[in-house]
Amino acid sequence: MKISYKNRALLCILSLLLLCANVAWSNNVLGIRVGHHDTHARIVLDTKQKPNVKISLTENGEEISISASHLEFKGTLPIFSKKVIKNIAFHALRTGAGTFKFQAVKPIKIIKSFTLPPSSTISYYRYVIDIQPMTGKTSTAPLKKDTPSKIVSVHKKIIMIDPGHGGKDPGAQGRKGILEKNVTLDIARALKEALERTNRYDVRLTRNDDCFLTLSNRIMRAREAKADFFISLHADSHPRADTRGLSVYMLSKVASDAEAEKLAIKENKADLMEGVNLNTESPEVAHILLDLMKRETVNLSRKAANALVSKLRKRVLLLRNSIRSADFAVLRTPDLPAVLIEMGYISNKQDEILLTSPAHQTKLCEGIREGIDSYFSEHR
Ligand SMILES: [Zn+2]
Repeated sequence: MKISYKNRALLCILSLLLLCANVAWSNNVLGIRVGHHDTHARIVLDTKQKPNVKISLTENGEEISISASHLEFKGTLPIFSKKVIKNIAFHALRTGAGTFKFQAVKPIKIIKSFTLPPSSTISYYRYVIDIQPMTGKTSTAPLKKDTPSKIVSVHKKIIMIDPGHGGKDPGAQGRKGILEKNVTLDIARALKEALERTNRYDVRLTRNDDCFLTLSNRIMRAREAKADFFISLHADSHPRADTRGLSVYMLSKVASDAEAEKLAIKENKADLMEGVNLNTESPEVAHILLDLMKRETVNLSRKAANALVSKLRKRVLLLRNSIRSADFAVLRTPDLPAVLIEMGYISNKQDEILLTSPAHQTKLCEGIREGIDSYFSEHR
């Protein structure tokens, strides 16, 4: 295809923009140093690209932070003489954000900060911060023995939300024709937002469009993300049109009641549809299945289900015996607490209206968010 001059110019601008975005977004720190001069101390960050970081000093002058929404550091922290700075730590989030923290021996001030570009002998950028103790001389600080600094990492809890069904598997169908697969995706997206607003969770979805996933695909996605909690969202249907309300399910070899067993068979159908036999899955999935009844995980799942129901009770209508258990394939997660929420019955007129109402979805998501908060506050 012939590319016109105008299009070529546009392509150039586009690639330049992409290049700039790349430079602005990733701060790849290669090394870090602390040095001492007669009048001041110097912190230097060696970076692969031109650094784009935020620097701040606490009000009491005892800690400097260098942070960015994308900051990567895989090296080791330096060993240095602790005259002015006594400790360095690096905190990384799974989102890619990172912060270096420099704890001062006594209050300091920042004299200046600047960037040195690569030179003929140095191939990287250097981000320099010059600091000075606020009062007295640096030499009055006791000279401590050099020791390596601590690396501290703070991670948000990773929540995997699994919108039930999808693609060729529509799930249950409401009287007005609404499909379970669409309801679960809508609410999963709203729940992701509600959880992320707290700044305590890193939230992923097993699917974010109308695609078909086998139940073991869903488990694998949670494992790959190293999730701390798995929550599968569904909306049930029932032959009795007046059956309504929310219920929370956990994994158990023995179903809590006949209804729960029937439901598990229904929800497990997605794999039959794909012709997948869970027993002849890949070795990793087979291993998961062997391990599935780890008591610890079952206990934690039960605690999570209790926390969810006690918070949701205040916000939405629950089904009688709202915590149930059965052999749900999607909950077979040996080292990951997992629950399945049937958010209501789309076979019921009122529930069908509620499940598609934004106001009700907000209530529901806030209830689930409170339940997850309460679970993690006790099981950090
Ligand atoms: Zn379902």
